[in-house]
Amino acid sequence: MNSEEGYKKACGIFPGGVSSPVRAYKAVGGHPVVIRKGSGAYVTDLDGREYIDFVLSFGPLILGHADPDVLAAITDTASRGLSFGALSEPEILLGEAVTRAIPGLERIRFVNSGTEAAMSALRLARAFTGRTRIVKFAGGYHGHSDALLVKAGSGGATFGIPTSAGVPDAVVHDTIVLPYNDTEALRDLFRREGKTVAALILEPVAGNMGVVPPDEEFLMAARDVTQENGALLIADEVITGFRLTYGAAQVLFGMEPDLTLLGKIIGGGMPVGAYGGREDIMRMIAPEGPVYQAGTLSGNPVAMAAGLATLVKLRTPALYSLLEEKARILAEEISRAAQQVGLPLQINRMGSMMTLFFSDRKVTDLASAEHSDVRLFSLFHQEARNEGLLLPPSQFEALFLSTCHDDRVVSEAAARFRRALEKTRAK
Ligand code: PMP
Repeated sequence: MNSEEGYKKACGIFPGGVSSPVRAYKAVGGHPVVIRKGSGAYVTDLDGREYIDFVLSFGPLILGHADPDVLAAITDTASRGLSFGALSEPEILLGEAVTRAIPGLERIRFVNSGTEAAMSALRLARAFTGRTRIVKFAGGYHGHSDALLVKAGSGGATFGIPTSAGVPDAVVHDTIVLPYNDTEALRDLFRREGKTVAALILEPVAGNMGVVPPDEEFLMAARDVTQENGALLIADEVITGFRLTYGAAQVLFGMEPDLTLLGKIIGGGMPVGAYGGREDIMRMIAPEGPVYQAGTLSGNPVAMAAGLATLVKLRTPALYSLLEEKARILAEEISRAAQQVGLPLQINRMGSMMTLFFSDRKVTDLASAEHSDVRLFSLFHQEARNEGLLLPPSQFEALFLSTCHDDRVVSEAAARFRRALEKTRAK
């Protein structure tokens, strides 16, 4: 089967031909890639075309594709059984590694996705505070559970879906949405209604309206207003966990949330999510407390082993500063090329995650992200693909680098980005 045949067949099987919406390339046009294999910084499609991959499974693959140590951990663990519905050693070891790396994680619970982590943390926060209202930010994506699917980023921003069909008004009635990075709006809301809020949920570095770094004052205000009003602060670190440092972004910013959500990297490419935080709050979860949350495959030993092998490798000294350095060089090269070619481009970057916004304005929130020229982005995306660069097929997603994106790969990628920008300009 080639890619075109594969996609055609998939369209008769899956809605939109895919298992998750952004993969469909609806926003950028053309057939989506159908992948045969990945190795290091590269993926190969069913037609045998090789790409330098900046999607990296939307974030988990910080060690690149098919890392030999992660694979060895998976096969070794799998050879002793795939799932038990019981406590297992890899689960204990990964739990220990994650809680040691993030000081605020006094207790943790593993689930199977970021969506589950966010949904469960919300239930917990509501139970703990005895309140129902939650606050999120426009362009923040915390998975697709009903209450959080309001002005959500990622696919929600890509397809302009403010709230999904099928979500009852009553369910989102208690979800308040504020602009990201707007400290005044945040303070103002909590001044008026803070005592009714169960939780404030945020991405410490936004990644789902494209990458938008936080104002530090904004993060500090999020901590202050929640604490003053008895609401919980939930840091959604599904993308940022172990992406920017060994541990969570909250540590970099000195923001101590009550609960933290994890996913992606802690599963090393396998389906894993987690939520955790203060012990007095986590104690409310069944079987210790009255908040029910469970999972047949939660803490799956094979997935846990993949996550553990990933974390073990991430502890290498200087790994994160090297990643940062490669990403900085790449961003500078792309920025220079855009200037020389004469295309308006804002690159927002934190460590090894970045977004190329086709805009002449600084991007600080969803409104400014949406000022980007999505038509130009889709032309660029097509040219980048022709040059052998696999980029997220949406203006409102992050590009990621892995430890396999070494000097040689970055320099080759920079040349391809330049050619893609030149061709975009010529159109
Ligand atoms: N939170 C954030 C910040 C995310 O980026 C995502 C997914 N991209 C999720 C939650 C949901 O995770 P999952 O797709 O594993 O359900």
